[in-house]
Amino acid sequence: AKKAVLGPLVGAVDQGTSSTRFLVFNSKTAELLSHHQVEIKQEFPREGWVEQDPKEILQSVYECIEKTCEKLGQLNIDISNIKAIGVSNQRETTVVWDKVTGEPLYNAVVWLDLRTQSTVENLSKRIPGNNNFVKSKTGLPLSTYFSAVKLRWLLDNVKKVQEAVEENRALFGTIDSWLIWSLTGGIHGGVHCTDVTNASRTMLFNIHSLVWDKELCEFFGIPMEILPNVRSSSEIYGLMKAGALEGVPISGCLGDQSAALVGQMCFQDGQAKNTYGTGCFLLCNTGHKCVFSEHGLLTTVAYKLGRDKPVYYALEGSVAIAGAVIRWLRDNLGIIKSSEEIEKLAKEVGTSYGCYFVPAFSGLYAPYWEPSARGIICGLTQFTNKCHIAFAALEAVCFQTREILDAMNRDCGIPLSHLQVDGGMTSNKILMQLQADILYIPVVKPSMPETTALGAAMAAGAAEGVGVWSLEPEDLSAVTMERFEPQINAEESEIRYSTWKKAVMKSIGWVT
Ligand code: ADP
Repeated sequence: AKKAVLGPLVGAVDQGTSSTRFLVFNSKTAELLSHHQVEIKQEFPREGWVEQDPKEILQSVYECIEKTCEKLGQLNIDISNIKAIGVSNQRETTVVWDKVTGEPLYNAVVWLDLRTQSTVENLSKRIPGNNNFVKSKTGLPLSTYFSAVKLRWLLDNVKKVQEAVEENRALFGTIDSWLIWSLTGGIHGGVHCTDVTNASRTMLFNIHSLVWDKELCEFFGIPMEILPNVRSSSEIYGLMKAGALEGVPISGCLGDQSAALVGQMCFQDGQAKNTYGTGCFLLCNTGHKCVFSEHGLLTTVAYKLGRDKPVYYALEGSVAIAGAVIRWLRDNLGIIKSSEEIEKLAKEVGTSYGCYFVPAFSGLYAPYWEPSARGIICGLTQFTNKCHIAFAALEAVCFQTREILDAMNRDCGIPLSHLQVDGGMTSNKILMQLQADILYIPVVKPSMPETTALGAAMAAGAAEGVGVWSLEPEDLSAVTMERFEPQINAEESEIRYSTWKKAVMKSIGWVT
């Protein structure tokens, strides 16, 4: 094979819930040249609580950058070709830190965390005006999922946070802000910012005027001075302060799902992608229009690729638990040793044998928004074994996607003709085939699955003052597509799907 011409390189940090990665792409072809990945610990200090250590997250970013640079060295690629770095991150996860010491004041409260359920109930009783107060400004339902209530909890319950706020030392941020502040110098002049996509997940941001909303901050009792500056998703925020890439600009920032939308080149109205990571997120670009869902989807900022560029919006269907159910089978039940092993078990039986698994570990998100739901495995018989449960877990991910796709089709009016997919789970071929069978439309997967990182790299490379990536299709020549066509008949698909819905109904109302 002819060796592709090496253009300017762009790096991307992909800080997910399960792991951190750093990846380096050739900006002329989108070819992935090297990467490194580190799994991230999740702590479950109480039932329903999910935390991560912000310092471990930051360390993992440094480690991934250093290791990737070493690997590039072994490939005889000069790291001085890296012209920019993009950041993409797990969204909503909330950090408060001390700008004087640089120390986090509490663990990061992860998006999946349910501790704020009573906070949400209390707040929902005091919503001013009509019930649409939060939704009409933010596009989001009042839920434990978003940052504002997590931050409210930290302000109410953590003395160190309260003191730091009083002494004007506290900074709030989602993971992007924490990383960019730290990487650009931390206590020595770090830049405290976020981008419009991450801001749109806090429930404090007005998605029409694109500024922090004073009324929302009052409603949630959030002091506005601790909030980061909101920037576009593609501009130079600051320079790397240390490490192998010292001096390289950080010039792209997108929440992971927005980054995947960009990485899949879903730039047109009506284009959609579904990402299968810890959770599962289907986003459909709605152009410059804010479309409000009648069927349980969120309205969110898709991206704004430059200070003077227009903002794009998306409709989003969020599923809390997708890959996390596989990790649960590995860590809590121990029926597999690695996530990849699930495929072998599922293949052995090729059916769930009437077993259905609703992994509502954190309640149900879209389209139900039911915090009262909890996980169930039902339809068990004497015959059921771990292979059937493994199969049912994979099927659950596909059924949840089907529910979102149905809602999306109803909101948009034009049914999707195929589904573009990416994310850690899409290496599972059984899952991909099942998904095509259950949706009854083709599933299309890029050969290079790291679309989230690619999107962040594209945004960074396209930024004013960097200008090494044009965002035209020819700059993605290294990416080819794999298709999965539906193989079972539509009738069989419908029967399975309707039984799934019965199982979902049984999971709802489990806790009160
Ligand atoms: P995130 O971006 O949320 O950190 P990733 O996109 O890295 O997630 O995907 C990791 C998730 O995918 C984990 O929850 C893991 O259990 C799951 N996963 C990884 N490989 C497979 C596989 N072959 N089959 C099923 N699930 C998988």
